[in-house]
Amino acid sequence: MPLRSPQGELRVVSLGEAFEPAVQRSCSALQTELGLTCSILPFEPALDFAFDPNRGQYNGMLLLDWLEQRFAKVNVLALCDVDLFVPALTFVFGVARLDGPSAAISMTRLRETYFGRAEDELILLSRVEKEAVHEVGHMLGLTHCMDRNCVMHASHNPADTDVKSPRLCPSCHASLPW
Ligand SMILES: [Zn+2]
Ligand SMILES: [Zn+2]
Repeated sequence: MPLRSPQGELRVVSLGEAFEPAVQRSCSALQTELGLTCSILPFEPALDFAFDPNRGQYNGMLLLDWLEQRFAKVNVLALCDVDLFVPALTFVFGVARLDGPSAAISMTRLRETYFGRAEDELILLSRVEKEAVHEVGHMLGLTHCMDRNCVMHASHNPADTDVKSPRLCPSCHASLPW
């Protein structure tokens, strides 16, 4: 399913509960780094539909299907705080439809508390911002980048995310559809 028009507009929504600072931070990063017009939707309580009882995690692909039906006319990024997976991987920080209208990121494994350390809101928001730009970059057709400082570099743990900047490298930037 292609990116919906207008292509430069995106909505951001919290799923399960409202994550105000994280949603606002994501929105402003998406405007600054990707040149999108971004607005925030009221939070959506629904999330159970994506739960997989066998894995005890939430299926990111079902989440994207649901987002595309629930918000049928817009491009949307969802933020949640449950552990996400896609069938081929044990977990994902986020998932996106390449060149498509939807993406989701999870804050669960971006939190310092996940690793037994004290919660750090600044670190969390910095990671959320990068993962938001990364997944929406996929929506805009960008694939993974070898440059470790580029936001499109693939993160396999929060240390990878901490190394990269929230920005696109010049080569990825040149690949944006505008
Ligand atoms: Zn990726
Ligand atoms: Zn790059």
